[in-house]
Amino acid sequence: MPEKRPLRRAVFLDRDGTIGEELGYVNHIDRFQIFPYAAEAIRELNRAEIPVIVVTNQSGIARNIFPESLVHEVHKKMVAVLAAGGARVDAIYFCPHKSEDACECRKPNPGLLERAAREHALDLAASWIVGDRYADLEMGHAAGTRGILVMTGYGRGEYELHRNAWPRQPDARAENLRDAVSHILQNGGGAPRRDE
Ligand SMILES: [Mg+2]
Ligand SMILES: [Zn+2]
Repeated sequence: MPEKRPLRRAVFLDRDGTIGEELGYVNHIDRFQIFPYAAEAIRELNRAEIPVIVVTNQSGIARNIFPESLVHEVHKKMVAVLAAGGARVDAIYFCPHKSEDACECRKPNPGLLERAAREHALDLAASWIVGDRYADLEMGHAAGTRGILVMTGYGRGEYELHRNAWPRQPDARAENLRDAVSHILQNGGGAPRRDE
């Protein structure tokens, strides 16, 4: 990698339980329901010129529960709903494998973040991940990012039932994606463009 290429901080977002409802395998387009505040939250990141990158495990592909084409269809819908709310994501990465495949991209492994960092010239140490499962935070910590656990999706249950067993606690906890974005923008997530 050329050394003088400037690296940008990013915000990585989990999909199910964070941007939209956690309903188990999204095996039909109708099962993907975006939270009503998601576009507004992502728009704030867009306004701060912080790249927004979705990272999601979709083992339903490897398990033959749904085809990869459905994942693309769901992402098309997500992008369209977000666009209607004036928001956009810069990239979407998914792991199609199941845990038995021992791939490097399935959360909590950091493969998707590392791939995104290479392809988008990102500074992982200055980046954040927002997710509803400890695996999201583990992935982030393995790659050097900070992590926020949201209380939507599996978040509240994971936090209340399992946090004592976590080797590293979330860097922050938020009620939902909107609150997580506020936290990021108040804690060194924003591009310092106004002072320049
Ligand atoms: Mg999730
Ligand atoms: Zn994988």
